[in-house]
Amino acid sequence: MAPSHAADDAGNVKVVVRVRGFVKRERERGAECLIRMDPGTQTTTLLAPKDFDPVTGRPATRKVYEDKEFTFDKSFWSHDETDPHYAHQEDVYRSFGEEFLDHNFDGYHTCIFAYGQTGSGKSYTMMGTPEQPGLIPRTCEELFERIQQDPSPNTNYHVHVSYFEVYNEHVRDLLVPRLTPPMYLKIRESQTDGVYVQGLTEAEVKSYADVERLMKMGDMTRTTASTKMNDTSSRSHAVFTIQLKQIQHSLLSDETIERCARMRLVDLAGSERAKSTEATGQRLKEGGQINKSLTTLGRVIAALADPRRAPGKGHRRVKDVVPYRDSVLTWLLKDSLGGNSKTAMVACISPSDYEETLSTLRYADQAK
Ligand code: ADP
Repeated sequence: MAPSHAADDAGNVKVVVRVRGFVKRERERGAECLIRMDPGTQTTTLLAPKDFDPVTGRPATRKVYEDKEFTFDKSFWSHDETDPHYAHQEDVYRSFGEEFLDHNFDGYHTCIFAYGQTGSGKSYTMMGTPEQPGLIPRTCEELFERIQQDPSPNTNYHVHVSYFEVYNEHVRDLLVPRLTPPMYLKIRESQTDGVYVQGLTEAEVKSYADVERLMKMGDMTRTTASTKMNDTSSRSHAVFTIQLKQIQHSLLSDETIERCARMRLVDLAGSERAKSTEATGQRLKEGGQINKSLTTLGRVIAALADPRRAPGKGHRRVKDVVPYRDSVLTWLLKDSLGGNSKTAMVACISPSDYEETLSTLRYADQAK
């Protein structure tokens, strides 16, 4: 099947939405699916819950809900596997993962974010499972396949990976064992290297198996603590970076051409933080920082997606006002966002949580 590069002409920023199926707890309570995606369109509709009290016949909640319609670059229906329009991991990858990899081989940076409340399918979309691998393993696997299939004897490839998390505006290396107290790394900016994390592990990898081993190690190190909302959800942003360096030797002279591209694959902290988790103390502080980085990220992507929405006219002025420095996450990703880079945001939504889903769809809508 020919790959379908959705919305290829829509510029360098894509915002897509993906709805997951019911999980056990939703099936058990007989949850109702509040999402409608009409095949062949880019529209996602959030339906008002028909949540009536069986005794009084009145809405079970006092709030008045209404249907809300949104349009994105693509709407992925991953709710009901028996549906012929079901979007598999492969479909999500084909819609921009492959195109982004082409862009990397051309020497440009890419960035993919998964946004959404805890339990909405971010890790599933980014990492997936051994049976249903997500964007990160698919990208890495194809990367090495392409390198191995390259018949040109005059190109050398070097691939490095790093994995860090941003937690409470601090950066922690996920490829070193977890330390107590944790060691945070400093962010630096230089004329030659741009913004970088000082002392971050950048491991050279020769195969997909190497990458897999490092991903597993990083996931084990990743900060998790329990809240009332979810015991194992992560409250940090996890940034997995693959750096591809291509060194081409000219056959006619001593000249070499070097092309370096980074792909950033980011599993963002749960967007519900600080709202529905009855947070106090440290958790409240976390929530504030998470909100700050998610809000800033939304503003940065919005400014990149549509320069007209940022104050001032023309690209130079826009660049000046893109608020990269307002959060550690956006500051660190500055070089991978904007310019010739391509960015995709996958807004992951639960099928049966009206308020959180509305908030995610609104966030994604203002980012596009
Ligand atoms: P998050 O990372 O946003 O907290 P997860 O990726 O862990 O959420 O997803 C929550 C649960 O839903 C997991 O059990 C996951 O396997 C399942 N899930 C999420 N998205 C899908 C999907 N598209 N298809 C099947 N199962 C999914």
